[in-house]
Amino acid sequence: MASVRVAVRVRPLNKREKKSKVIVRMKDNTTSLVQAKVPVQGDGAKTFAYDFSYDSTDRKSPDFVSQKKIFQDLGVDVLHAAFQGFNACVFAYGQTSSGKSYTMMGEAADKGLIPRICEGLFCEISARNEGDSMSFHTEVSYLEIYNEHVLDLLNKRPSSAPKGGLRVREHPVDGPYVENLSRHVVQGYGDVGELMATGNANRTTASTGMNDASSRSHAIFTIHFTQARFDSELPCEMLSKIHLVDLAGSERADATRATGTRLKEGANINKSLVTLGSVISALADMSDKQATKKQTFIPYRDSVLTWLLKDSLGGNSKTIMIATISPADVNYGETLSTLRYASRAK
Ligand code: ADP
Repeated sequence: MASVRVAVRVRPLNKREKKSKVIVRMKDNTTSLVQAKVPVQGDGAKTFAYDFSYDSTDRKSPDFVSQKKIFQDLGVDVLHAAFQGFNACVFAYGQTSSGKSYTMMGEAADKGLIPRICEGLFCEISARNEGDSMSFHTEVSYLEIYNEHVLDLLNKRPSSAPKGGLRVREHPVDGPYVENLSRHVVQGYGDVGELMATGNANRTTASTGMNDASSRSHAIFTIHFTQARFDSELPCEMLSKIHLVDLAGSERADATRATGTRLKEGANINKSLVTLGSVISALADMSDKQATKKQTFIPYRDSVLTWLLKDSLGGNSKTIMIATISPADVNYGETLSTLRYASRAK
């Protein structure tokens, strides 16, 4: 049965928002925007319920939600799925500067989900590695989808990459994959950290002359994890994939005022984000309808992002969407649109 969880996280006010009012309130699993831009009758609050509403606005508050808590709620489930042989996807969705990278990567002093998941993985491997009836093999890949083209963020010679990006193909058994995408064996968290730094550096320079590149593309960091067992009569191997996805800034999807390249970029980002929303919402519907066994059409093919992740969305895979928002009144419109998107995904 498909399992989809949706969380919303609000960050502290930043320097530019110092004069802004905080308009986000969280209580249990609900998130409210307390002030409508145009005054309406009543208090004008808009309230949405999610699996989790994480208030990270104030470190000193007793309700403050830490990086560790988010890992315990969401990351631990991802690790359980991987050790059981299932795939998992974690998405960070939200406008630029809302806290996607902070939540996924974090800072050296306060690590985010990705480093914690990697550390957890290697820690569990060494705990299980004691007998010689099991062996583990871990590889990572890191790619970027820009304008519906796939680029390898870990390819040492990006100039040798094909012009239109790498080809996405489909294996009859293993499903969609990226042809010629490099994979790197990792032995511990240090290896992963290095590769991630390389990929992040490539992410900002890959598209020439483009500033703020990371907000215009989707980045997918994938851990390919293989467990082999030798203690039964028939040795068996289990492969699971963990995809950790930093989506393009959701404000880019609004192409109404853009022209030329920006228009195309916005339209493509929009296509991917809308398709992802529809896929996740169809999957959530499907688990509701399990009892009635109604067929639900899942539009994976409508964007490169969802097509590539097809075998990790739905089925027994674990899917987690973390929507990140700013607490400030100046971002009312973007925040409301993020909350609606996340609520649709539920
Ligand atoms: P995005 O990836 O969505 O563009 P970032 O993660 O880079 O946004 O966040 C923008 C800024 O806000 C960064 O300086 C980051 O350190 C800070 N920030 C984001 N979320 C939090 C949080 N939960 N706690 C503290 N600071 C945060």
